[in-house]
Amino acid sequence: MKYLLLIPAFAVCACNAPKKTVTATAVNPENYANTITSQELKDHLYTFASDEFEGRDTGEEGQKKAAQYIKNYYEKEAIGSPIAEGDYFQEIPSAYFNNKYKDSENVIGFIKGKELPNEVVILTAHYDHVGKKGEEIYNGADDDGSGSVALLEIAEAFKKAVKDGYQPKRSVVFLHVTGEEKGLLGSKFYVENPIFPLANTVANLNTDMIGRIDVKHEGKEDYIYLIGSDKLSTDLHNLSEEVNKKYVQLDIDYTYNDDNDPNRFYYRSDHYNFAKHNIPIIFYFNGVHADYHKPTDTPEKINYDLLAKRTQLIFYTAWEIANRDQRIIVDKAK
Ligand SMILES: [Zn+2]
Repeated sequence: MKYLLLIPAFAVCACNAPKKTVTATAVNPENYANTITSQELKDHLYTFASDEFEGRDTGEEGQKKAAQYIKNYYEKEAIGSPIAEGDYFQEIPSAYFNNKYKDSENVIGFIKGKELPNEVVILTAHYDHVGKKGEEIYNGADDDGSGSVALLEIAEAFKKAVKDGYQPKRSVVFLHVTGEEKGLLGSKFYVENPIFPLANTVANLNTDMIGRIDVKHEGKEDYIYLIGSDKLSTDLHNLSEEVNKKYVQLDIDYTYNDDNDPNRFYYRSDHYNFAKHNIPIIFYFNGVHADYHKPTDTPEKINYDLLAKRTQLIFYTAWEIANRDQRIIVDKAK
């Protein structure tokens, strides 16, 4: 290909010039949302919810394997930790569980903000589940393997933007909590021992079960339940709606956001520990199904295309919160 020789030398040299980092507002986030794929989510989840991980019971060997899996992934992707270099584990001693469970740990990844690094957006998903009973393993593919692998893919998308020179304005924290099934204990420990001051925590997006379809939505699958988005911040709710309309167009179902809904899901996953401290939250949820908390919650029952779409919605929402000029406004503090 002879004509290549006509390219001026400076054009070739430009490739090696150090990349100038700018804030991510200058780029279209679709470039990075598209790196979140159903195939990668599936590859992760078939390991994460395999029998080898023994239902990821808090403090047990399967949960440790899952913790190691998350850590190895962040190391491989060169995504840092906010604790210390190479140390991704926030240790929780057995004493904190009144010695009912063995020592356990939250696992935390971190992408530092460029202009406002002390303001953090925290994404949570619990990576523990209920373990096994006798020979029966509770794989917890949807609960909450789906949210766990979603966070890995969202972190990867943010990291790719950083590599291209687009660092988020605010910091983004990927907090994989343990002990959820024992009573939201990992997230409770985190808010009692926060790595970033709660006053600087601008929002929490919690993902717990986003890979399945409930009975109500059979045949109209492009949906997600959102809970809590307007409880503390009108601003967060509006942002979330705008982002969905612009990029993903899922049917957002607010049924469970009703204060009078008897299921009281607002109080039943890790986001609530943040909401208690007046940190605005959104809880992403697919509703319950026949395999909920049964050994039959397995990876082949997940709808991976839908999981990818829902994961992209969470990515776009986090991206907008991290990158826009104004911090999320809390107008309904309790
Ligand atoms: Zn769960």
